[in-house]
Amino acid sequence: MGLKQEELIELLTGLKFIEKTYEIMRIIEPIKKKVLHYQESKIIETNLICHHFWKKDQACDNCVSLRAYTENEVFIKIEYNADKIYMVTAIPLVLSDTSIVVELIKDVSKNMLVVKKDGEIEVDVHSVITNTNNLLLKDHLTNVFNRRFIDERLQVDIINNSIKKETLSLIMADIDFFKNINDTYGHIAGDCILKEIASELVSCTREGKDWVARYGGEEFLICLPNTDKNSATEVAERMRTKIEKRVFEYDEKKIALTTSFGVHTLDFDVSSSLDTIINSVDSNLYSAKRSGRNKVISS
Ligand code: GH3
Ligand code: MG
Ligand code: MG
Repeated sequence: MGLKQEELIELLTGLKFIEKTYEIMRIIEPIKKKVLHYQESKIIETNLICHHFWKKDQACDNCVSLRAYTENEVFIKIEYNADKIYMVTAIPLVLSDTSIVVELIKDVSKNMLVVKKDGEIEVDVHSVITNTNNLLLKDHLTNVFNRRFIDERLQVDIINNSIKKETLSLIMADIDFFKNINDTYGHIAGDCILKEIASELVSCTREGKDWVARYGGEEFLICLPNTDKNSATEVAERMRTKIEKRVFEYDEKKIALTTSFGVHTLDFDVSSSLDTIINSVDSNLYSAKRSGRNKVISS
């Protein structure tokens, strides 16, 4: 039993865009600590040992690939090597019955910000890692994921879902007449409402499975892995109702508003580009707007 060639090609083609973002992209077999190589439609076990990259003779104590492999979750770590700081993202993937890990390595020496607290440099590595990840992947106003996260993660989730032969649903949410809120109550009120709507959206999702990201100004993208059209429509409907019923308060003023939603579900055998997928969910959102707003439209 091994990898199916077409699954592997799909995986690697899908991940091509990541090569532009990261200096190094490699496939790891974390038990043997071997680097795998892909050439002429075949996966080849090389003689390269993964921790030799870090100039170590022994496996790393904090091996993120092994953690990603055993816990089937994405793990990120900051690794110090010589005078450089690297961010390593380990993504577990299952191809047929074989588990592998894709490692994305980025030199963040120049763009990693070390957080200062009361004038002191923060040296606690946990805080540095958490803060760095937040700075890289979270939207600072709403605290949901940012556009960069969408660009990196969505493709990987789509590939993963297609390998697992599951359906994946996306929801695009856009606040109705939000410009009027800013014009009437001011931008600070608008910012506060934006934050609260983001947490309402998060409260309707499954922690650790789904994710919510700010796509643009007052637009959010919600990704629901292993979710069919009916369930995704129910989630969007729950979000719509929660926001509709909520009375937001700012400066002792009560503010009510609504949101429109587009839902699009991908079958596991879909081969559309990311742009086509985003266009589909966006076009349903547009239909929701055109048909009177405060609606959920699914395809
Ligand atoms: P529609 O129902 O058609 O979506 O109407 P709309 O007014 O929501 O849409 P439009 O695209 O005309 O305006 C979007 C508004 O969202 C305008 C912009 O000022 C506001 N906005 C975008 N980002 C932010 C932000 O970070 N903070 C605040 N306060 N407002 C924002
Ligand atoms: Mg908009
Ligand atoms: Mg809007």
